[in-house]
Amino acid sequence: MRNYCEECGREVETKVVTKKEIFEVCGEPVEVDARVLVCAECGEELYCEEFDNATLIDAYNEYRRRHKLLLPEEIKKIREQYGLSQRSFAKLLNWGDKTICRYENGSIQDKAHNSLLLFLREPENMRAYLTDNEIVLDERQKLKLLDTVERLEKDTEFRVGSRFFDLFFSRIPCEENGFKGFDYEKLCAMVLFFSQKSPELLKTKLMKLLNYSDMIYYKENGISMSGLKYAHLPYGPVPDNFDMILGKMAADHIAHIEVLYEGGYEKHQVIPECDIPEGILSGAEIDVLNRIYEKFKNFGSVEISDYSHNETGYKATKTGEIISYSYAMDIELN
Ligand SMILES: [Zn+2]
Repeated sequence: MRNYCEECGREVETKVVTKKEIFEVCGEPVEVDARVLVCAECGEELYCEEFDNATLIDAYNEYRRRHKLLLPEEIKKIREQYGLSQRSFAKLLNWGDKTICRYENGSIQDKAHNSLLLFLREPENMRAYLTDNEIVLDERQKLKLLDTVERLEKDTEFRVGSRFFDLFFSRIPCEENGFKGFDYEKLCAMVLFFSQKSPELLKTKLMKLLNYSDMIYYKENGISMSGLKYAHLPYGPVPDNFDMILGKMAADHIAHIEVLYEGGYEKHQVIPECDIPEGILSGAEIDVLNRIYEKFKNFGSVEISDYSHNETGYKATKTGEIISYSYAMDIELN
């Protein structure tokens, strides 16, 4: 990204750095790791609306984490699982017309409202709520909602599964996930991209390709692609809880691992099972994935592993530690 620097008086190369900033949220000071754009030559801070907004959102999310409040997207998910519009959901809860809309767009919710939403997340509780309260929805809407509740109750297995997944993957952006909540759909698209392009892709190599893609995308855009965290393991950076994700991808028929035996060794090959869904990867993301693919296409698993051992972030961390995205600044592809 090139930008105008007033200090230098001309257009300059820029880079992204992180620093601590304190914001006041609902009267409480909240410290966040803020990304700022600086002039690569003189170090002067340059204005970047996107980063400013993201920092503010991070501060709000940190406040939510502290007070155990649902995230805006979680509120949206609760509403959507019942197939309700923002307006009918507000009506059902006896809240103001715009209340749900404001919460989904990032306003901090009232504590009592938060408790009610958490309670209603369980379909069993929604059923009780519908029986115990004077509901202002019209009869047709109410019947439709009861149908949905019944379907969700039968779907318990699915719900337990997705709740379980949420436990392991933070939806809150921070420096460890490249300021992006974990995005399963995006990751599936990345895995499909590499496994379809490569004639034979092994799991160990895939993990490095994902790491480089996330790091380079972060270096250039100040945000990661998948929201994965990467841990320092003896054979290079590895996505946190990766086997669990692969298990889910296999269950969802997106891709699976096939174990092959060759010369007494086990090989774990990634087999794609579907096409990349349209509209998931942006042009800028595909561009990064292509560059990573080209750079490493002739590297074997061992070579790319060795290569990744020389990165600053890997050398600066110990086994088991998460490698911060701030080290992405030191990665050079060529
Ligand atoms: Zn400058």
